[in-house]
Amino acid sequence: MSTIKNTLEGLKRSSPAQAEFYQAAEEVLESLQPLLDSDPRYERNGIIERLVEPERQVLFRVTWIDDAGTVRVNKGYRVQFNSALGPYKGGLRFHPSVTSGVIKFLGFEQIFKNALTGLPIGGGKGGSDFNPKGCSDREIMRFCQSFMTELHRHIGPLTDVPAGDIGVGTREIGYLFGQYRRLTARFDGALTGKGLTWGGSRGRAEATGYGCVYFAEDMLNDRGADLQGMTCLVSGSGNVAIYAIEKLLTLGAKPIACSDSTGTIHHPAGIDPGTLKEIKFHQRKSLSHYLEAHTDAEFVPLEDYPEDGHAVWRYRADAAFPCATQNELSEADAEALLSNGILCISEGANMPCTSGAIDQFLEAGIAYGPGKASNAGGVATSQLEMQQNAGLTQWSMETVDKHLRQIMKDIHHRSSTTASEFGEPDNLVLGANIAGFRRVAEAMIEQGID
Ligand code: NDP
Repeated sequence: MSTIKNTLEGLKRSSPAQAEFYQAAEEVLESLQPLLDSDPRYERNGIIERLVEPERQVLFRVTWIDDAGTVRVNKGYRVQFNSALGPYKGGLRFHPSVTSGVIKFLGFEQIFKNALTGLPIGGGKGGSDFNPKGCSDREIMRFCQSFMTELHRHIGPLTDVPAGDIGVGTREIGYLFGQYRRLTARFDGALTGKGLTWGGSRGRAEATGYGCVYFAEDMLNDRGADLQGMTCLVSGSGNVAIYAIEKLLTLGAKPIACSDSTGTIHHPAGIDPGTLKEIKFHQRKSLSHYLEAHTDAEFVPLEDYPEDGHAVWRYRADAAFPCATQNELSEADAEALLSNGILCISEGANMPCTSGAIDQFLEAGIAYGPGKASNAGGVATSQLEMQQNAGLTQWSMETVDKHLRQIMKDIHHRSSTTASEFGEPDNLVLGANIAGFRRVAEAMIEQGID
């Protein structure tokens, strides 16, 4: 049996019940075969076997007291996956679906994504099964303080630098940073996504959404097209989705649908990001409230979704941006998009397309940007925040956006030239996986067997 098959089989035995992690590992490892065949050093140094095992995993109890005075207990996680290229870097997710398999899939993806940016950052991820929905502001604060009471001993500006992800935005980073500062008596860049008056970077909030639209533009430019005038679908209505919608409008495209965990909005006149910001960032309510400001829109509740997929992918469009969560675009959704003439998919979320859906896109030969390439603008801008913190300075939005634009171009270039080198110029999954892997693997070889 090949090393890759052996490793994947071994993972199922040694880390049982981690479906998302196997899915992510399979997707990456299977595309590495042509590289392993061409260079025996990777097998000789046990790179594959070492890469799938995190360097360190911290699992801890998070105890907090709710507003009614009841003691509540959650699980906290930080997986420090690979530091061959730099300090561990990757977000924190607070969502009831978080398990150790989910955090490991996200951490594993993060290794290659971070490598692909060309920046000196390793891969890590963390979070909790805490559900922030329905919690008061004070409950969120107490939870974040308790979470950081354990996490602070494992992080630092040159060790491990967490950021936000689902359920963790500027408010949560604020409470986490406040507790970090109190416990360590230090004001440093141990977290990114900070507020603009206390160490944050301009453009960090926007970076993932903007970056994934820039990536789509680069893929389309390669094919002699652009986003101008294109009709677009975006899933989610959180941080990534809202700024993707904002950038699409700036580039002359028309986003007509978006979603949240309660349903989908279809607004043929064009989604209004201002209304989304008000509902999602300030009021923290269901997307159905969008109708109050836009009576010409339609809301499709979850119970009316097709049995084999997601309502948001069933409208006719030229480009689609999955920006909510993993496995939110099924094989049947992919078929529906393709039969409606979709030209481009750029992933804002991590692993949003099932492997069956990805196969469909690759077979159809449309422009398909895998998340580890197309959503890397967020972590790249986090690294720009680390640079600014280290220099005790703050750059203008224009400077940050210029860096982000160039970083996305470089990621696209690296992925597509590597895809061409291995004989499949349109396959950016292959290109991104091999380019990311090669950079980490070379660093691991040069640093010896650890
Ligand atoms: P947010 O919490 O800001 O938004 C998440 C959005 O997705 C919300 O609209 C939420 O709905 C929806 N959603 C979450 N889980 C589900 C689910 N199980 N079913 C249906 N809808 C769901 O998170 P982000 O925008 O930050 O993250 C979105 C994705 O982008 C994630 O995959 C994340 O890993 C990825 N990502 C984020 C980066 C960042 O910089 N933030 C960087 C790179 C990738 P509701 O409002 O109802 O909860």
